[in-house]
Amino acid sequence: MADDSAVLIVGAGLSGAVVARELAEAGLRVRVIEARDHVGGNCHTERDAETGVMVHVYGPHIFHTADAGVWAYVNRFATFRPYRHRVMAQSGGRVYSLPLNLLTINQIFGRTFRPDEARAFVAAQAETDIAAPRNFEEQALALMGARLYETFFKGYTQKQWGCAPRALPAAILKRLPVRFSYDDSYFAHPYQGMPEQGYTALVQAILDHPRIRLELRTPYAPAMAGTAAHVFWTGPLDAWFGHDLGRLGYRTLDFERFTARGDWQGCAVMNYCDADVPWTRITEHKHFAPWEDHAETVLYRERARAAGPDDIPFYPIRLIEEKALLGRYVDRAAQTEGVSFLGRLGTYRYLDMDVTIREALDSAHAWLEARRAGRRVGAFAVSPL
Ligand code: UDP
Repeated sequence: MADDSAVLIVGAGLSGAVVARELAEAGLRVRVIEARDHVGGNCHTERDAETGVMVHVYGPHIFHTADAGVWAYVNRFATFRPYRHRVMAQSGGRVYSLPLNLLTINQIFGRTFRPDEARAFVAAQAETDIAAPRNFEEQALALMGARLYETFFKGYTQKQWGCAPRALPAAILKRLPVRFSYDDSYFAHPYQGMPEQGYTALVQAILDHPRIRLELRTPYAPAMAGTAAHVFWTGPLDAWFGHDLGRLGYRTLDFERFTARGDWQGCAVMNYCDADVPWTRITEHKHFAPWEDHAETVLYRERARAAGPDDIPFYPIRLIEEKALLGRYVDRAAQTEGVSFLGRLGTYRYLDMDVTIREALDSAHAWLEARRAGRRVGAFAVSPL
């Protein structure tokens, strides 16, 4: 028998936690199940036992947003410390500043351009015959020309995604700006910061409500849905359907941990853009918490590969064939009653944390509104297609 006031949320990452909180505050009873032994999904943080450093266990997560509502929301549940993300990149045995900015351009071309000169120079490098870029490579060539593309993007992208940049959507490149100033902040958003006690503490605080029951180490079983008025699914979209149309492709990451004394690389993230270096980046976690003091340091060397059935999915690939399969799953989902799909895995989209929170808030409110009005609830708050 469906309990009219009980909702089941599968997954205790950002999406699941935010929906749980909104529904609990609206008076519903919420059961959150999580297969892993911690909340926070892939933004989980924990203290490294050996060094005491707060580690981003599943790779670097930096909170940045232009959404004042989302910024206010996260600040309700955690103290955020000022943090500006800067990324360095190695290519051909030299170190450069990312994202591409005036320093990078002057370093690469051995010049002393001022902003307008650099803009004109890069425009002259760009391949102007590409009017409407159809993929990542064309987008890069049209934006910055071959030299910058080959130095910073070609090898890294091949390693990160396991395919030729020509096979990838242009949208991935649009995550990174080209700047004609010495502003080397990785993100341009007005609100940026790092939760002082880590992301897991933030998610725990969101979930800390008397009407929320959290069960860790509890994988979903279909029988669980029968007792709930509605299910919010934040696992992989194809997993809800038992992968019966085939598997959507994901990239997973492997981290090789190592420690040292002092400061090993001098920054939080160093990218390795050459194709013949097998890792994509090295993260030195203590630089995410510059207000802390640690004699030891811990680093993760990161490599990407295709996710197998037992691997943790990190990045939806969204190649042409994945998009076709995605379309079939989206049609299936639209015909499924009683389930909403959300988050990076549930909608198979490359979402940042702030967008994830915004969509979870909107999705919870839309569901509550539809329920009050006795309307049918759609499977997606935002179409994944
Ligand atoms: N990218 C690259 N070289 C770099 C950094 C990024 O080619 O040094 C490309 C790559 O395809 C990557 C994408 O830009 O997947 C987005 O980069 P971002 O730093 O946003 O990746 P994330 O931190 O989400 O893994």
